[in-house]
Formats: sequence, structure tokens, C-alpha cells
Amino acid sequence: MKALRCKQLVKRLSDYIDGTLDDSFCDHLDRHLKDCAPCEAFLRNLRRTVSVFHLQAQTAPARTLRERLRAKLRARKKYK
Ligand SMILES: [Zn+2]
Repeated sequence: MKALRCKQLVKRLSDYIDGTLDDSFCDHLDRHLKDCAPCEAFLRNLRRTVSVFHLQAQTAPARTLRERLRAKLRARKKYK
């Protein structure tokens, strides 16, 4: 498998956090995160954001959380 680019990876981080990624992609992503400080920091940030959303949005539909996450990821488009 070709090395992942950060941009491809960032697009799938919300799936990674949700646990909906397939195993091989997950392994690939784990390896990338070990060697890539910016992505690792971004993931940590995203996880923190997600847990805050979960606390604040326990009564809101899950769809809302996903939309907000997607919007956040889109805002990081320039991220390479
Ligand atoms: Zn990276």
C-alpha cells in the first residue's frame, strides 16, 4: 500500500474516531500517526472536540454531531 498523504488521512479521521474504518486502513492510519506529529496533534484535538460534543449533545440527534464534525474537517481543507 502506498504511503498515505496527510490530506487523505484527515478526511477519514472522523470515521476513525467512530470506529467505522476497515481494519487495514485503521492499521495504516495508526502507523502514519506514529510518524506524523501534525496529524497526531490534529487527531488529539479532534477527539477532544468529539468528547465535548458528546457531553453537550447527548439529547441531540447523532446526525448533528456528524455534520458539525464534517464542517470542522472541511475547515481544515488547507491542511496538508
Ligand atoms: Zn500526516
